[in-house]
Amino acid sequence: MLTSALRHLKPQFLYCTGYHTPCFHGTLDLTCSVDNPLIELSQHQTVYHFGSGNSYYLGDGALLKKEVTTLRIFADYHTHTVHSHGRGTVEDNVKAAISANLRAIAITDHGPANLFGVGVKNLDVFQVIRQEIIACQRKFPHIQILLGVEANIIDLDGTLDVPLERLHEFDIILAGLHLLVHTNSLLSGMVMAGNLIGRYCPVARNRLRKLNTQAVIAALTQYPIDILTHPGLNVDIDTRAVAEVAAQTGTYMEISTRHHNIQPSYLETAFVAGARFVISSDAHSPGEVGEGELGTQLAKAAAIPPWAIHNLS
Ligand SMILES: [Zn+2]
Ligand SMILES: [Zn+2]
Repeated sequence: MLTSALRHLKPQFLYCTGYHTPCFHGTLDLTCSVDNPLIELSQHQTVYHFGSGNSYYLGDGALLKKEVTTLRIFADYHTHTVHSHGRGTVEDNVKAAISANLRAIAITDHGPANLFGVGVKNLDVFQVIRQEIIACQRKFPHIQILLGVEANIIDLDGTLDVPLERLHEFDIILAGLHLLVHTNSLLSGMVMAGNLIGRYCPVARNRLRKLNTQAVIAALTQYPIDILTHPGLNVDIDTRAVAEVAAQTGTYMEISTRHHNIQPSYLETAFVAGARFVISSDAHSPGEVGEGELGTQLAKAAAIPPWAIHNLS
C-alpha cells in the first residue's frame, strides 16, 4: 500500500508511447505514427491499448506533449548511505538528488540481517538517520526527503528483518531478497544457500523458485511494502505470480538501474499481470543518485506505458 508521501507525488503528466501502427480503442479519432508520436488531448478520455506491435497508452485528460525518450525520474526511492552499504552521507545523497533535479529522495539503508557489515548495526540506527534527515530537510526545504528501509525477507513465511510494529517509523518501506543474510530458520538458510549454487541445477532451480516465490508473496501479504526491490536478482522467482500479488497489495515492483539482470520480457510479464513499477538507482554512492536512464530504456523496450511507472515525469 502506498504511503501518503508517495501518494502526494503522483506524476503530473501521462504520455503516449506509440510509435507503431495506429490502433486505438474507444471513441477518440487520433492518429499517432513514427513521424508524429506526439498527441495532444483536449478531452477527458481513457483509451488504453496493450498488444504486441501496437503500443498506445493514453490517460484521463492527459496532455500528451513529450516523447517517451525525454521522460526522467522525479524521485529516487532507493539509496544507501554510510549507515549501511553506501559511501555517502545522508546530506551527500540529498545534494546529489538536488543536482539531479529530483523532487524527492528516500534514504533506504539495508535492514540489520545483511551479513558482512552490509546492513545497519541495529534498528536504532534508523533513528539516527531520521535526525539527519530532519536536519537536511531544514537545510534543503525544496526536496522531499523520506526515511525508508530496504528490509530483508529472512524466512520462507515472509518474515522481514524489521518487525511489523517498527514499520510505522518509516515513510517508505522497501523489501527484497538478498543472498547473504542472517535467515530466521535453518530451512530458509538452506534455501538461500541453495540459491547460491542451485542456479546451475535445473531440478533444484525449479524447487528453489517455488520457495523464493512463496517467501516473497508471504512478505507482500503480511507487510505494507511499498516497493519490492530488484525482483529476481540472484534469487529466481515466478514473476507472474509475484506481480499478481504485488498488484493486489499495491506494491511497486522495482526497475533497478544498478542491477543489469532485467530483461524486457520480465517487465512485460509483470505488467500484464497487473504490476506497476518504480525506477530506482539503488545508489551506493552519491554519484549514482537519480540514475534512471537504464530504467527508462528498459521500459521503452518492453513497451511499458509511462503511467505504469510511478516516478516518471
Ligand atoms: Zn538490495
Ligand atoms: Zn539497495
